[in-house]
Amino acid sequence: MRTGAAPSEAAGSSRRAAAVAALVLCVLLAVVIAVTTPWHPLPSAGNAPDPRLDFTPAQIARSHAFNAALNPPAYAGRVAGLVAVLLLGLTPLGARLLGSVTRPLRRWPPRLIGAAVALAVLTRLVGLPFDMWSQTVLRRYGLSTQHWGGWFTDQLTSLGVTLVVWVVVLLGLHLLIRRFPRRWWAGAAAGAFVLVAAASFGYPVLVEPLFNSFHSMPAGPLRTDLLSMARADGVAVDDVLVADASKRTTALNAYVSGFGSTRRIVVYDTLLTTEPRREVELVVAHELGHAKRGDVLHGTLVGALGAAAGVCLLHLLMTSPRLLRRAGAESAADPRSVALLLAGVTVLLQVAAPVQNLVSRRIEARADVHALDLTKDPETYVRMQRSLSARNLDELSPSALEYSLWNTHPTGPERIAMGRDWARLHHVPVPAPLAKQPVKGTSP
Ligand SMILES: [Zn+2]
Repeated sequence: MRTGAAPSEAAGSSRRAAAVAALVLCVLLAVVIAVTTPWHPLPSAGNAPDPRLDFTPAQIARSHAFNAALNPPAYAGRVAGLVAVLLLGLTPLGARLLGSVTRPLRRWPPRLIGAAVALAVLTRLVGLPFDMWSQTVLRRYGLSTQHWGGWFTDQLTSLGVTLVVWVVVLLGLHLLIRRFPRRWWAGAAAGAFVLVAAASFGYPVLVEPLFNSFHSMPAGPLRTDLLSMARADGVAVDDVLVADASKRTTALNAYVSGFGSTRRIVVYDTLLTTEPRREVELVVAHELGHAKRGDVLHGTLVGALGAAAGVCLLHLLMTSPRLLRRAGAESAADPRSVALLLAGVTVLLQVAAPVQNLVSRRIEARADVHALDLTKDPETYVRMQRSLSARNLDELSPSALEYSLWNTHPTGPERIAMGRDWARLHHVPVPAPLAKQPVKGTSP
């Protein structure tokens, strides 16, 4: 018991405890990432990634032009968003704004909700022009099929989801801060862990249906093939869902989300209307790799651990008298401190993103190896990867900065080179270069 300790001494000891917890959790996180990431899913057999092997000069130029047009709004939006939250969180600007919004409200829960609404709307407004700019590029290159009405509806829906999350998180956090003014970080760290896990579990059934409709893949040879492939793979799959992605995009994609009873394998309808059956099977074989390895659950647990570590770091930020003074807030319990919290969260997420992408690229490569092991068809695999990259206008040779900031998957040429490595290592014919065989349906 520290009942006899002076307030500043007690505050100091709880800050030290939070710092130790943050250090322990960060070390644990680093160890888990180092040990569980498949750094080398396949030994290299000497095939270097080279876009010129499988993409025509026109395809390379088009994807390069597209990404050159998309980069300015992407970078500028990222910088503007960061500058805005830092200005709001580290100067009295945010407190002044939140003070004027929350002043008419008496009790703390409505004041907190008012602060969350003001900050969420303001930060969304800052990002909006850059997202509109990106959308015009996507439309110009034929990747987006969406009209502005539908696009704005999506923006509003995603703002609504953000707000629900913020309000739940903030009300829970401030309850803890008020109940345990010094030791709230321990409960908040545990709460963050549980919340990340619950969000990932509930996402496929709560959030995905807000944006897309899903239906079971209709009975037919493709569905039969896919389900028997899953059975042969030993993955329990009783349905493959098709998403109405074509209302928004021409891009090709498939994914696995959720875990346990909410796990689902989803393919975009764009994939089914444009790709031959064998290519679709290769895509699903990749997704089965994620399902078999429990990649979503694993990613969720690592993310939850990261969130718990992040909360301990945020406690240090939110109990620093200097930063609170700067932010114009009295204490962590002051609803005006939400701007400082948002700045801290944003910086932590920016720092974490390149690490997340690095790990994600290795996990994606492992799923590719799984698809190759399962189908033993590097020929179709290479065709499928070329098709995906060409249609989605992926950057084929990104700069180091682009690669670390945006690439959750290896590049198309990297994935293709791995397919050729797989063929060589398994003593089957190495797929020939495809540059002379144009992809149907894409502009020259
Ligand atoms: Zn994947």
